[in-house]
Amino acid sequence: MSIKLTKIQSLRFFPLFLSISLMLVLNNQAQQLAECNENYKVAGNTLPCKPNQLSLGDSTVEIRVYTKKLPNQTFNKTFAVVHNDEQTGLNAVKEVISQKGGRLVEVVSKNKSRYLSLKLAGKTICIDPNRIYTDEGIKADLQDKMRGCKYLTEEEAKKETNIAPVRTFAQNLQNIIQDKGNSNYKFIVAVHNNDPGGCLTFEVFSKSFLCDKKSVKQTEKVLESTPKDNIDNFIIVTTPTLFDALKNKGFHLVLQVGKEKLTGDANDGSMSVYASLNDLRYIVLETQCKSNGAECKKFKDRQKEMIGAVLPMQ
Ligand SMILES: [Zn+2]
Repeated sequence: MSIKLTKIQSLRFFPLFLSISLMLVLNNQAQQLAECNENYKVAGNTLPCKPNQLSLGDSTVEIRVYTKKLPNQTFNKTFAVVHNDEQTGLNAVKEVISQKGGRLVEVVSKNKSRYLSLKLAGKTICIDPNRIYTDEGIKADLQDKMRGCKYLTEEEAKKETNIAPVRTFAQNLQNIIQDKGNSNYKFIVAVHNNDPGGCLTFEVFSKSFLCDKKSVKQTEKVLESTPKDNIDNFIIVTTPTLFDALKNKGFHLVLQVGKEKLTGDANDGSMSVYASLNDLRYIVLETQCKSNGAECKKFKDRQKEMIGAVLPMQ
């Protein structure tokens, strides 16, 4: 009798067990779709994703490459998102290219941090993945004191043994972004987001009261948008041809100086400086707001307009 009761009692829990199992399976499937693989989806559209691992000194960084090619489509550029805390732009690109086709490279950092960490000279320091594309930039980046991480002394930052692992990572990342050995893209579109009230605004490039003198040295000319846009939304380009191609599209525009002027602190190791020095076409699409939440939707939509404008450019 007691055995029978136990059986019946356990049977009572069977539907619960089944539904928990089903929930776990579904949850696992949803997680798998959120991971980087060939079935990756965004907003209902497939956007196949391939994960890569790059060494950064003693640590490993995941680099995701999303590629969506529509029938008979060719493309000539790679979108790049190197700051993992800037989710607005990352999702804007994903949504556009999952519909219209394109290629995107994402640098994945731990806890969606802006910085990547590695151990150098016995200290765990952090580097900015947009300041490491020239040796001058790496040396300055290794000594940056403003990030809440440990940093190297000037003496340590000059040592080849400390520069080399960062330089190798930057070169390997560029090999992926430019798809070297395959498509050899000479056209990069970097997508970034900023905070309201920060130092990085269109006015920083266009006026002289600036909090960032380096940005003035890097600027050849600017064009204010019509109608007037938020000062945190702007586009930077590296060639006059790109400037002319975008000048009637209604965006704040900044033309970077030619490579002969990118010396001293104007050579900050950013990808835009690297692009000029290596004769690559390069565009930065920058808007305010960093999350993928509803509060950033209007900025994500603005960034999607920018992406739509540069997508067909040759
Ligand atoms: Zn950024």
